[in-house]
Amino acid sequence: MKKIEHLGIAVKNLDASNDLFEKLLGVAPYKEEEVASEGVKTSFFMNGPNKIELLESTKEDGPIAKFLEKKGEGIHHVAFEVDDILVEIARLKNEGFIVLNEEPKKGADNKLVAFVHPKTSNGVLVELCQEAPPQPSPKERE
Ligand code: ZN
Repeated sequence: MKKIEHLGIAVKNLDASNDLFEKLLGVAPYKEEEVASEGVKTSFFMNGPNKIELLESTKEDGPIAKFLEKKGEGIHHVAFEVDDILVEIARLKNEGFIVLNEEPKKGADNKLVAFVHPKTSNGVLVELCQEAPPQPSPKERE
């Protein structure tokens, strides 16, 4: 694990929370992105070298909707940057953690991500993230 990459915060209404966090941090979100496969709409703020991700559910039964129902708004996950996500997944499994994604998936902000079940990490949902390699252009893929 290299460093904390970002904190993920679950919110009910992304627009309202963007305004709130803009007031709190004194800076506007630098990006908004929907990850349809995860049922979330996200926004990202920089605070000095640190990053904060807000997440709103776009699906009634999505993971963020379920979290809000159970716990309400608040810190949802801590994301750690890793050099090689496959190596980290194997290492953590070997250490007895339950890794929810054997295969890393495409997350927001051009990252490959995998999650560690909070029940094996003191109630903290841990996200591993690795900068995704650049997508080959359609021409290169042929
Ligand atoms: Zn995240």
